[in-house]
Amino acid sequence: MLQKSIKQYLEYLKLSGIQDIYFSGQKTPSQKKKKVVMETDHAELLSALEEKYRNCNKCSLWKGRNKFCYGNGDPQAKLMLIGEGPGADEDRTGKVFVGRAGQLLTKMLQAINLSRDEVYIANIVKCRPPDNRNPLPEEKQACLPYLKEQISIIQPKILLLLGRVAAVTLLETDLPLKAFRETEYEFMGIRTFVTYHPSALLRNPGWKKFAWIDLQNVQREYQSL
Ligand code: SF4
Repeated sequence: MLQKSIKQYLEYLKLSGIQDIYFSGQKTPSQKKKKVVMETDHAELLSALEEKYRNCNKCSLWKGRNKFCYGNGDPQAKLMLIGEGPGADEDRTGKVFVGRAGQLLTKMLQAINLSRDEVYIANIVKCRPPDNRNPLPEEKQACLPYLKEQISIIQPKILLLLGRVAAVTLLETDLPLKAFRETEYEFMGIRTFVTYHPSALLRNPGWKKFAWIDLQNVQREYQSL
């Protein structure tokens, strides 16, 4: 109710020609400008790198590629999600997590009050492995520098690894997913959590209750930032 009245009041001010309102403790226009400039820098850098790597042929996955899937989301996201690799829908569109698994991921984020635009999502490999097989060690190693570069630019505060492939690759430990979920890790100095890949949840809906526990944990950490 209160939110609705505030929204209506803001709409009224906007219609009255008032574009900016500053509360005490709020960022000044010059601080805001600086933030916008920084956001642009991050976005421009990521988009320049995406362009640079678009025709990469460092591993054999380029041969079956329709679209290179670099990553999507807020270039300054506090939470970055990392999956395994593009599937058929991603390969067709060039966007990450847009198929059924992507739709489930969107719902999972909504459940912890986050939209896709507030996070950044990328994969271990940027080109689709044939028949959705797991990426091979040499493919992961060839592609990993691109992901590390993305992480360095975005500088998230929390990483959430989706599935065992992402966890085994980045944490360099071979554990069952259940064991990965029980521990908090650090990757590139960033607090790192592991949960199920949404594709695994589509195949095993009974695991959603465990993923929900992981998401709530991440939400707590996110809210405390
Ligand atoms: S998966 Fe990565 S390393 Fe392999 S061709 Fe695609 S962009 Fe290059």
